[in-house]
Amino acid sequence: MLTPNLTVNEAGHLCIGGADTVTLAKTHGTPLYVMDENMIRENCRGFEKVISEEYQGRGLICYASKALSCMEMYRIVDSEGLGADVVSGGELYTALKAGMPAEKIVMHGNSKTNSELQMAVTHGVGRIVCDNLPELERLDKIAAASGKTVRIMLRIKPGIDAHTHDFVKTGQIDSKFGFALETGEALAAVKAASLYPNLLLVGLHCHIGSQILDTEPFAEAGRVMIDFMNRIRSEFGITLTELNLGGGPGIRYTESDDPKPFSEIVRAILSAVKESCASAAFPEPFVLFEPGRSIVGGAGLTLYTVMAKKEIPDIRTYVLVDGGMCDNPRYALYQSRYEALIANKADAPRSTTVTIGGKCCESGDLIGEDMPLQDAENDDILAVLATGAYNYSMASNYNRNPRAEIVMVRDGEARTVVKRETYVDIIRSDI
Ligand SMILES: *Cc1c(COP(=O)(O)O)cnc(C)c1O
Repeated sequence: MLTPNLTVNEAGHLCIGGADTVTLAKTHGTPLYVMDENMIRENCRGFEKVISEEYQGRGLICYASKALSCMEMYRIVDSEGLGADVVSGGELYTALKAGMPAEKIVMHGNSKTNSELQMAVTHGVGRIVCDNLPELERLDKIAAASGKTVRIMLRIKPGIDAHTHDFVKTGQIDSKFGFALETGEALAAVKAASLYPNLLLVGLHCHIGSQILDTEPFAEAGRVMIDFMNRIRSEFGITLTELNLGGGPGIRYTESDDPKPFSEIVRAILSAVKESCASAAFPEPFVLFEPGRSIVGGAGLTLYTVMAKKEIPDIRTYVLVDGGMCDNPRYALYQSRYEALIANKADAPRSTTVTIGGKCCESGDLIGEDMPLQDAENDDILAVLATGAYNYSMASNYNRNPRAEIVMVRDGEARTVVKRETYVDIIRSDI
């Protein structure tokens, strides 16, 4: 199985975290997102363990909540001692409503609105990561009007090619995020930020991309950032005390994926940071990490009902399901690959090769092509694996499909944490 929390019971049904997925589909309906709480918690602890073993706990793991944002997720990560990274007023609102302490929240975004900045300042968010000069100007005014000094970090493009999909790499010069190092833009931004009376520049941030499978690009980012912090010290006499290294560790989406475990990645970054600090005689900074996918991705799966099968001779066989790009747009966006299986025949061999099509009115509405699958029949339950990240959070009401329910499984017991939307919800804002 793709992840160790997936098993097959005596009935031949796929189980996640000890819960029978066929039973879940029957009792909760489909499409249905199923999350394994124990695995989420284990991942949180795995990150914290490395920070405590390798860095005397001088850091904060902020769950990148854009991967899966709902109140219960903030409660779970908060109870594990993590903070949260939010990228919008909506995520910030959800986190605060769930009881996440504001000082453990990092606020991101390359186009934060004045009302989002105001909200972050009013609630006392721990760190705002500033992306551009106009934002510094606006934030300083808002802070002044609120009578507060705001702790900020600057988002830096360290110029690292992370060998991932073009749409998810963010560290190179040609990116809409942050200040470029190579061009001198970042150094000028540090100078500018240090002059605003109501902003306190505590450190720097970088995020080189997502679904990165190797340790080296991360370690390189650590070295580049410490070198830059050392340069800032010698140019301006400013010693920054915090370094936020973003997220990005990859997960196993298919049997052939072989990502380095996140523990190894974090260990590699920390040892690069420590070495660079030692050689520059620079004080080791407090570190932050923002993992999203590696906390929740492998902990979730999606269940669908097979509605029909269409065999097009000599071309392909479509298996059509009751969801699609409205609950998982990732194949349409990035041709992301997934493993699927028939949950009620999980012990049978996957002897056919199919294209899984969704219910939306787009030819590109596919979950995947060339996918090995058990012989699918109408009303079978289809499971798509490793959908815990960037599925629900990217879901839409396209074709006015209500968003699917999320259940959280813990020790074999399931509870609803996000209700299925209704048609009443669909017209709620209509006049
Ligand atoms: C998306 C993002 C993350 C999380 O990335 P993952 O690949 O899910 O770990 C962290 N930080 C920032 C700034 C991001 O944009």
